[in-house]
Amino acid sequence: MDLKQYVTIVENWPKEGIKFKDITTLMDNGDAYRYATDQIVEYAKEKEIDLVVGPEARGFIIGCPVAYALGVGFAPVRKPGKLPRETIQKEYGLEYGKDALTIHKDAIKPGQRVLITDDLLATGGTIEATIKLVEELGGIVAGAAFLIELTYLDGREKLEGYEVLTLMQY
Ligand code: AMP
Repeated sequence: MDLKQYVTIVENWPKEGIKFKDITTLMDNGDAYRYATDQIVEYAKEKEIDLVVGPEARGFIIGCPVAYALGVGFAPVRKPGKLPRETIQKEYGLEYGKDALTIHKDAIKPGQRVLITDDLLATGGTIEATIKLVEELGGIVAGAAFLIELTYLDGREKLEGYEVLTLMQY
């Protein structure tokens, strides 16, 4: 299946010069959403994954059906102030300024094999911070899976040494 036909490209959103890849038109098509999920599940099957971890909010949309299919749990990575119990936090750079991501301190047990999911790999800042959170808790990043990779932003350079799957490249 050619998944790209289900992605809507929105020019100049959320600001001038950005070509936003809107995946809501992929998700609201049952066949396309299931096909994309199945591709990631196939990739993850031989990796003996114990847990799926994804950053809010679109990392949940990709990661939760994959976790369900693999029969493992899902742990959310969120912006500061959203998770109710003790967390650890990592800062990461944005185009302008900084942001941070958090995870519950007890979300991962040392030695657990983790699959990280998100909708899109751009500069790699989000995924790099997520990897740091997983590893600080003793998790092993066994793979990372995305629907979309913006190859011109070189996010993969931040993922050297990790196994990465992307279903569509722009
Ligand atoms: P980055 O940290 O630069 O890899 O950015 C990744 C996050 O930003 C992803 O979770 C995406 O949801 C979002 N993002 C960045 N660029 C785009 C884009 N062109 N279209 C849609 N989402 C984007």
